[in-house]
Amino acid sequence: MDKLKLQDLDLNGKRVLLRVDFNVPLDNQGNITDDTRIRESLPTIQYILDKGGSIILLSHLGRPKNGPDPKLSLKPCAVALSALLFPPVIMAPDCVGSQVEQLAYFLKQKQILLLENVRFYPAEEDPQLDPTFAKKLASLGDLYVNDAFGAAHRAHSSTCMIAEYFPGKAAAGLLMQKEVDALESLLLHPKRPFYAIIGGAKISSKIGFLNALADKVDALFIGGGMAYPFLKIRGIPIGDSLCESDALPLADAFIKHCAHKHLAFFLPTDLTIADAFANDARSQIISVQQGIPDGWQGMDIGPQTIQEWTAQLKKAASVFWNGPVGVFEFSHFAKGTNAMAHVLAELNAVAVVGGGDSVAAVNHLSLSSHFTHVSTGGGASLEFIEKGHLPGIDALSDIPK
Ligand code: AMP
Repeated sequence: MDKLKLQDLDLNGKRVLLRVDFNVPLDNQGNITDDTRIRESLPTIQYILDKGGSIILLSHLGRPKNGPDPKLSLKPCAVALSALLFPPVIMAPDCVGSQVEQLAYFLKQKQILLLENVRFYPAEEDPQLDPTFAKKLASLGDLYVNDAFGAAHRAHSSTCMIAEYFPGKAAAGLLMQKEVDALESLLLHPKRPFYAIIGGAKISSKIGFLNALADKVDALFIGGGMAYPFLKIRGIPIGDSLCESDALPLADAFIKHCAHKHLAFFLPTDLTIADAFANDARSQIISVQQGIPDGWQGMDIGPQTIQEWTAQLKKAASVFWNGPVGVFEFSHFAKGTNAMAHVLAELNAVAVVGGGDSVAAVNHLSLSSHFTHVSTGGGASLEFIEKGHLPGIDALSDIPK
């Protein structure tokens, strides 16, 4: 990447404002159910401490609606992070204001201060509301490092505007570098053949990304809820399967785009269908040619599709996977998604998975170490593939000429 890196900064004795992505999943009691995002930030945190810096951590958590919401406090993250390293993390009562300024000012070398959820201020997500918000955050530190790849597609105060106050001193953290390097090397210099598996729910939310991907890959495999508009266009009855009203023209245009590029395009040839959207619904396997009867809906790719796709995927030198190929949250309809995770994990190829749900499936099966890269950013990885850049990265300082 052509941006300043953490390793380029002189960190000794400096207070480093470090934007992390501690947007962790919480249960009803406010317990963290998956601390992957906290663990992923450890290399950057440890690096800064080892180089003699102190750290002021910035993050958002969830989507607070009207100012501070105790259920979305970052306090559980301070506890979780304290359990992973020494010294214990100091939790700030807020992210701006005189108390926070005092805590930041008196922070000693190698200490860590975690600021409260930046989204407790509406100016975080809408910087125009109060441009001084980014300035107040910036005033707390000497240097700015962004390690929040998962939030880098948002032009928010703490991910983007804040960097303006650190000319020549706003750098990418180690996780940010890892994410960008992995996606850039896959997209710019893919080993071929390069295949992509795309699943998930809605074609409308992914069409820009699909078009960008179609220009890069050698074959596309479309599963999950994404497949039904394509099947419908081919005249196959889809029963009550997922199909948004605006999906058909999008799918039609996309098929034409792929045909124009002579891009190989795989849809399921058989399906697991159910008579209700529930794990214990009645289910059956049908061939796509049979069509889905009314009152039934497609829930997963079928065993023949798994077999056919596996045979094709084994020829890949690089694969990118986004989106489950079925309703994987229901164990009865997770076979296709689990099979894709296993196939990719066993490939002797570059295998990159990006997107919250497909990453969750890979983690659930404890297969992440078998992938070349498992992206921490769902929306960010798709937008990076689509546009080739993200506002949170663009805002960082350029490498000096
Ligand atoms: P996305 O965020 O677009 O990747 O969508 C992920 C969601 O797609 C998951 O919650 C899946 O349950 C859902 N999904 C996958 N396949 C289907 C399907 N056949 N019908 C309905 N939802 C699906």
